[in-house]
Amino acid sequence: MTSKQFSQAQRQRLRRSLLEWYGQQGRSLPWREEPTPYRIWISEVMLQQTQVKTVLPYFERWMQQFPDVQCLAQADLQTVLKAWEGLGYYARARNLHRSAQEICDRHHGKFPQTYDEVLALPGIGRSTAGAILSAAFGQAEPLLDGNVKRVLARLVALPVPPSKALAHLWDLSSQVLDPQNPRDFNQAIMDLGATCCTPKNPACLLCPWRDDCQAYQTHTQSDFPMTESRSPLPHKQIGVAVIWNDHQQILIDRRPEEGLLGGLWEFPGGKLEAGESYPDCIRREIQEELAIEVEVGEHLITVSHAYSHFKVSLHVYHCRHLSGEPQALESQEIRWVTLEELDEFPFPKANSKIIAALREAQGTKSP
Ligand code: SF4
Repeated sequence: MTSKQFSQAQRQRLRRSLLEWYGQQGRSLPWREEPTPYRIWISEVMLQQTQVKTVLPYFERWMQQFPDVQCLAQADLQTVLKAWEGLGYYARARNLHRSAQEICDRHHGKFPQTYDEVLALPGIGRSTAGAILSAAFGQAEPLLDGNVKRVLARLVALPVPPSKALAHLWDLSSQVLDPQNPRDFNQAIMDLGATCCTPKNPACLLCPWRDDCQAYQTHTQSDFPMTESRSPLPHKQIGVAVIWNDHQQILIDRRPEEGLLGGLWEFPGGKLEAGESYPDCIRREIQEELAIEVEVGEHLITVSHAYSHFKVSLHVYHCRHLSGEPQALESQEIRWVTLEELDEFPFPKANSKIIAALREAQGTKSP
């Protein structure tokens, strides 16, 4: 597809009108009020998969707990994961921790300022690098996050889904970027997507770009960006055990460092196989993962959760430890803990619902 080329006059118009709008409508955000490279970096990574309103309390707590890159580099990974608990996509927290150590080791504790060095940090892609370099150092680097893709796709009425036209969209983002004021321009285009050019019912009458917007001019805003035809996400059914011992303690394990939810704690269990009941599945999985025998008791709760590429339903049962010394055959470590002590460990979101159900049932459900 040939890239749309904006004329110089059109570029100037787009820049001026957007910056004017930003001056009046731009959001006041803590990392904009005090735009240090460290604060901008943390906020951009938190915002990669998460909306501003969810990020705000996490950001404030994070800054209290890890006020600078040295504090983050020296923190224990479990403490970092605990601070991230509930934000999802935990690889981001592990990468922030590793990056902080790299910044201290290789860059003397100063956030790097060249595009290649920033891109080389774990967990930073092209768009995040552009966002950080423009916001922290005023460099004229374009960005292309989900909001910006939607705005640009509507602006030119992009005839294919954004994933099929990434080079084109990057080129558009570079063309419109204001080289005189890249810091505000990039913040403004992200705000435009988040607050005005929203996925549903965009507020076109308040939009500074409506005179240039192809989708608005042809009344086809809801047709853009074009969507991918997607096959339904696979749905995994998992049997999960809350294993009690005679001291009213529960067995939890820590997932391997690499991969989905790496390093977080969870209740043991595994995938249901064809023809199995959930109690059968749990007994088998617990034997394979921990080399112990359990008695499966009452059903506690079923929790469903959607990840980016699949859905899971966790079918949770109270269990009683019968025999064998638990071994961490498929996890990093295992611990017996009381219900109160569970709060000290970082758990994935779906597991927090299990803990809440356990608290509710406390004193009545243990077999
Ligand atoms: S006019 Fe409407 S569709 Fe076009 S960029 Fe603005 S808000 Fe989005």
